[in-house]
Amino acid sequence: MGIDSIIIIGAGVAGLSAGCYARMNGYDTTIFEMHDKPGGVCTSWTREGYTFDGCIHWLVGSRPDSEYNRIWRELGALQGRTIVDHEEFCRVEGEGGKALVIYTDADRLGAHLKQLSPRDSALFDRMVCDIKALTAMPAAPENPPELRRPLDGLKMLPGMLPLAGPFMRWRGKSIQEFGAGLSDEFLRDAFPRVFEVPDFPMLAALMTFAWMHARDAGYPVGGSLEFSRAIERRYLDLGRAVSYKSRVEKILAEGGRAVGVMLADGSEHRADVVVSAADGHSTIFDMLDGRFTDPEIRGYYATFPLFPAIMQVSLGVDADFSDEPHMVNFPLKKPFLAAGKAYDRIAIQHYCYDPTMAPEGKSALVVYLESDFDYWKALRKDRKRYKAEKEEVAAAVIAAIASRHRGFAGKVEVVDVATPATYERYTGNWRGSFEGFLITTRTSKYMLKGMKRELPGLERFYMIGQWLSPGGGLPPAAQHGREIIQLICTRDGRTFTTSEA
Ligand SMILES: Cc1cc2nc3c(=O)[nH]c(=O)nc-3n(C[C@H](O)[C@H](O)[C@H](O)COP(=O)(O)OP(=O)(O)OC[C@H]3O[C@@H](n4cnc5c(N)ncnc54)[C@H](O)[C@@H]3O)c2cc1C
Repeated sequence: MGIDSIIIIGAGVAGLSAGCYARMNGYDTTIFEMHDKPGGVCTSWTREGYTFDGCIHWLVGSRPDSEYNRIWRELGALQGRTIVDHEEFCRVEGEGGKALVIYTDADRLGAHLKQLSPRDSALFDRMVCDIKALTAMPAAPENPPELRRPLDGLKMLPGMLPLAGPFMRWRGKSIQEFGAGLSDEFLRDAFPRVFEVPDFPMLAALMTFAWMHARDAGYPVGGSLEFSRAIERRYLDLGRAVSYKSRVEKILAEGGRAVGVMLADGSEHRADVVVSAADGHSTIFDMLDGRFTDPEIRGYYATFPLFPAIMQVSLGVDADFSDEPHMVNFPLKKPFLAAGKAYDRIAIQHYCYDPTMAPEGKSALVVYLESDFDYWKALRKDRKRYKAEKEEVAAAVIAAIASRHRGFAGKVEVVDVATPATYERYTGNWRGSFEGFLITTRTSKYMLKGMKRELPGLERFYMIGQWLSPGGGLPPAAQHGREIIQLICTRDGRTFTTSEA
């Protein structure tokens, strides 16, 4: 039976992407989104003249001639957008004025690291060479993993050969292990703080530095919601609008086949195929009641670590931070306690390089704090205490910044605090994990190999989005949308076609 109609759950970047590619291939699509705007976690919000961004710091594929940029062009995501390529990725300060600066230029980074720790010079030379080699990493193969044949791997082989050395050298090594092996005491502590999550693969760090070095991981001016809205406009131009405030409660299955969805208002909607671009856990265990799983799929959710839940403290400040590093992590003279967790450092980010984020001469600042999901989820039941605790956290963050910037507290005009419970409430992401499964030395292999996007015993149903690729990120989300429609087209006997916006 041929396929005419596709229901997509969620208008995050993965769902919007699937919607656009499905329309490019002539399918009748409906995207159900529980929120009232597009983007999912790729969003920003405006408060009293300040815009606070909740997502994009760097976007792989931002360089117009890069391989990955093609997907963004097809989705109309970046056309006409100014891209900012930072000179510094981030800065980590220690006691006594020492600073590790992750320059985006690999040679500059190498020279700086050698200055900080001359005894590790040979190691840093090797690292710089490998960062440059990794810039040649080819984009994903033309075919999705489900359609790849051994010949596809062979075709990629010549492009992969220069990468064999870096892959062999860094595979299985975490940034924490790398840091621990350095001679300089300050660097030993500072280097792993560049990616402050446990067991972060060194190879993923070097890939990030490679994209930065290649000027292919810039920031699109206008921020995350504008980015998502641009993809939504592409979907509109392709003849469909997102159905907002439409929460999918259940995925309907009949005779081992997905046939549609039931919304929270009880209405039922049928289609030939259902694609869930929503949170993976709620899709499998709530919308489908856990009826279609196997040990491998259950294993993902039982054993893969999640990105730690975070709070986002956003501040609108009547002060110009443009001369400050745009992302600086520094030790606090006076550690503070918030939601039962002690913080002896914070990282401040400002967005002064994007004039749309704050009135002239003022600054939008963001501080992320790792925080306990269960704590906030329980606290939210008592609205008064929840609000009071958020205010306490904001006050502690303001005091911490004031210890570095004299008079800061008096210049704060707007305060906004999002907790792990906010992430769950707004986007459905399981346990408030903002990017799904953590990328670690163990889970990183699934980035290449892919996770199961189809469920056993359920035909005509697919899953896409950040929960299907450890480490999350916008490029995999968009790519999933493309790949799944390519897969559907192939199975439906259609030639997959794309066009640029
Ligand atoms: C703080 C932060 C910084 C980040 N920085 C970067 C960065 O610099 N570069 C980068 O590439 N990536 C970054 N990311 C990651 C990136 O934003 C995500 O991985 C990506 O946007 C995930 O897209 P998605 O469509 O898979 O999921 P989501 O954005 O979670 O979208 C899922 C959508 O489904 C909807 N939904 C859920 N359940 C239902 C339901 N039952 N019914 C209807 N709709 C439903 C949700 O409302 C949501 O809109 C960052 C993320 C965060 C939070």
